[in-house]
Amino acid sequence: MESADIVIVGSGHGGAQAAIALRQQGYEGSILMIGRDPAPPYERPPLSKEYLAGEKPFERILIRPEGFWADKAVTLRPGTAVLKIDPQAKELTLTGGATVAYGTLIWSAGGDPRRLSCPGADLAGIHTVRDKADVDRMLAELEAGAKRVVVIGGGYIGLEAAAVLRKRGCDVVLLESQDRVLGRVAGEDLSRFYEDEHRRQGVDVRLEAMVGALQGDGSRVTGVTLESGETIACDMVVVGIGIVPAIGPLISAGAAGANGVEVDEMCRTSLPDIYAIGDCAAHGNPYADGAVIRLESVQNAHDMAATAAKAICGDPQPYKALPWFWSNQYDLRLQTVGLSAEHDTTVLRGDPAERSFSVVYLKEGRVIALDCVNKTKDYAQGRKLIEARAVIDPDLLLDPDVQLKEML
Ligand code: FAD
Repeated sequence: MESADIVIVGSGHGGAQAAIALRQQGYEGSILMIGRDPAPPYERPPLSKEYLAGEKPFERILIRPEGFWADKAVTLRPGTAVLKIDPQAKELTLTGGATVAYGTLIWSAGGDPRRLSCPGADLAGIHTVRDKADVDRMLAELEAGAKRVVVIGGGYIGLEAAAVLRKRGCDVVLLESQDRVLGRVAGEDLSRFYEDEHRRQGVDVRLEAMVGALQGDGSRVTGVTLESGETIACDMVVVGIGIVPAIGPLISAGAAGANGVEVDEMCRTSLPDIYAIGDCAAHGNPYADGAVIRLESVQNAHDMAATAAKAICGDPQPYKALPWFWSNQYDLRLQTVGLSAEHDTTVLRGDPAERSFSVVYLKEGRVIALDCVNKTKDYAQGRKLIEARAVIDPDLLLDPDVQLKEML
């Protein structure tokens, strides 16, 4: 039976970074990275941005050049899924039935896009945006003439896709079931700003729009019917309604977890010698006052990979990285830092009409997060306020002429 000292499951951001971090730590054992995706490790953020826009070819979104992995003695097994884990025998069963023995396992399988469950959801022309292959299918349809697109979901991925599709000349309707876009991740100021911006750019943004069914001509999607009864005709549908953590084999093997596999501050699961990192890992986050959460960001995948690698190499250091994220839409660069979910107060710094402003989130007077639109200085200086757990007078924060660093 094949074996490796460390087997990494998933060749996305977390998996690739784990292999890189292990070698950086001087780890000399064998590393095997098994990934369901047939492609070598690549960056996911450009999939809804430059790659969809046709501005970056695939070679430019590779996490490392192709030869890197062999140079670092990391064996890649693309196009292969891990179906089963036997934690007692320390064995994995792969698609095709082969088995692999591991010394230590790093589970970095991310998540699978949540799919619609309404009638017509399996018609051709309905796309999720998670893997390169998803976007390649969309690009082929756009090149074949698809022009009228309905985007379902007003989260970051739906909004970014809508922005690129407008830039490509498509007619775009964006459907959001809540009363504002970005409702799960940002405060109302930011939501209203992005709704206005998308409308200004020609996107038909519909709020509180519930999808009832998808219509088809027998094979392809031709329209989206809302619960109100209205049908919006379209050539293509893009669905961005979140992910379901890819943890089935781990949970079947007995690992603790439900929405994500539970990990401790070293990214260890409840099973011996099995770590979990990235989108699939539910952890107690110090910037959420210890609440157990999952984060879906490159930062989190990278920092958890480093945490696991250090723990495996005998230099354990608890995970306590400050969360950050970005989103590009049109000419707007949003940078967010901290976690805003528990805020009780927001302060708007600057005028959204000038397309450069920040929203500062406070909890009990303490700065806990910032959303900065075309405002890199606030982002960089705001990080320090969050790290310092600074209590700042909201009236002072309000004045965009006073730099955040002066408030520390
Ligand atoms: P992934 O990168 O998803 O990697 C998981 C891998 O595991 C996948 O390749 C999957 O095929 C594989 N896999 C799953 N199950 C198995 C199995 N059983 N066996 C073997 N392999 C398996 N984050 C940001 O910070 N900024 C952004 O602007 C941003 N934009 C994004 C845009 C898009 C379109 C998407 C999809 C994500 C974006 N993200 C962004 C989120 C970010 O990409 C993820 O948080 C990050 O990829 C998480 O890394 P991961 O390793 O946990 O999962």
